[in-house]
Amino acid sequence: MAVRQINSVNPATGDVVARFDPHSPAGIDAALEHASVAAGQWRSMPVPARAEHLKRAAALLRAERDRLAALITEEMGKPIAEAEAEIDKSAWCCEYYATKGPEQLLHQPVATGAARSHIAFDPLGLVLAVMPWNYPLWQVFRFAPPALLSGNGIVLKHASNVPRCALAIADIWNRAGCPSELFTTLLVGPDAVPDLIADPRIHALTLTGSTEVGSTVAAMAARHLKPQVLELGGSDPFIVLADADIPAAAAAAVSARMLNTGQSCISAKRFIVEEAVAEEFTDAFAAGVAALTVGDPFRRDVRIGPLARSSLRDDLVDQVQRSTAAGARIVTGGTVLDGPGYFYVPAVLDQVTPTMAVAAEETFGPVAAVVSAKDCTQAVEIANTTEFGLGAALWTTDLERADRLIPGIEAGAVFVNGIVASDPRLPFGGIKRSGYGRELGVFGLRQFTNVKSVWIG
Ligand code: NAP
Repeated sequence: MAVRQINSVNPATGDVVARFDPHSPAGIDAALEHASVAAGQWRSMPVPARAEHLKRAAALLRAERDRLAALITEEMGKPIAEAEAEIDKSAWCCEYYATKGPEQLLHQPVATGAARSHIAFDPLGLVLAVMPWNYPLWQVFRFAPPALLSGNGIVLKHASNVPRCALAIADIWNRAGCPSELFTTLLVGPDAVPDLIADPRIHALTLTGSTEVGSTVAAMAARHLKPQVLELGGSDPFIVLADADIPAAAAAAVSARMLNTGQSCISAKRFIVEEAVAEEFTDAFAAGVAALTVGDPFRRDVRIGPLARSSLRDDLVDQVQRSTAAGARIVTGGTVLDGPGYFYVPAVLDQVTPTMAVAAEETFGPVAAVVSAKDCTQAVEIANTTEFGLGAALWTTDLERADRLIPGIEAGAVFVNGIVASDPRLPFGGIKRSGYGRELGVFGLRQFTNVKSVWIG
């Protein structure tokens, strides 16, 4: 296996903060062995006892919020207040499942004519989690508490640019009192993934990342018939109808697109606005974006930090250039900041058509594409003109019309007059090339279980 050093780079400065040697093949083998033993102990523990460990993990997250948030900000550049919110949400997810999950995992009796019959939710075993850097704690905590509560162990292969966050997460679960290495972080590159998937000690896979990588990894998992969840890319529409509260929609649009410096799968990326209000919306939206402070993500007034990697900024520059060459207009922003760090001034483009790069491709950074539509029917058609199907927002004051439009919107979630967001109480996931399977809610809790029918005559 190729050896590639894993570096933690501060994207605000470009400085290497820490270097790690990747796990060797022997180290991976030993880690899988330990994790298998731990998973065997864990699955025999009653669910309420497992829930206590989730509560302890939540308490650790809350107690160590400042340290963990600073780690996120230093490692991937998220503005510090957003990093703090990420820790809070991770703790909330642990608490939610610790409280609600045990009941959702109880046997479900079913009347069949047998003396007794029910549905049981057994763990699958060890789940390999291949995760991205954009919410380095939350992406893992979105999946881990339910997967653990339902009795599984976890082997994490995190993105290579967030090794310190990856180690910190495993440390939380170990200190929460879980069997040693039930949650194991492997510091490895993508080259280690095929062997991990093939390993008989791995029983299932979850991948959050790009559609391209998801497709590659899905094929590997399919070859070994391992169940998988794929949480992939998105190009969420944000539809603004003429009867919407335009100032509210424009203010929400700024957050919907620019949170996490635009690096979110469920960021609104395409703003599809009815012609009658397109100018009013675009002016207010662009003014809101232009007012955002770009800079050191540790400064509390900063809303736009650096992109997490220089290549992400290069991709954005290229997508914007191709779109303006095709006729899009930059209303605000769209420049690279001189100096160290991977900073990009947030941009709004209008006169965008669905085939231009900023609309047809996923833009993973602070770039908004405004497309106008002649009416609500065309707005939904444009919203669906994408390979992705993750989230969608709809802004209108006519809630009856919203109810009529929702079934035609091709997405895993539709939010009306709100910003698409993940929530432990609601299932999360996509359709089309945004992936399949669900995290969160009761569906996420049972995703990595053997739904076992029990019939006793
Ligand atoms: P990525 O390049 O697909 O990487 C995701 C993970 O896959 C990383 O751990 C990466 O490891 C690993 N990986 C890369 N190439 C691989 C390969 N050939 N085989 C096996 N594993 C491989 O995605 P990213 O740039 O980190 O994240 C951004 C993407 O994730 C966007 O498309 C975004 O929309 C999507 N995303 C989706 C969700 C969702 O819930 N649907 C949430 C967040 C992000 P290395 O880092 O070592 O390369």
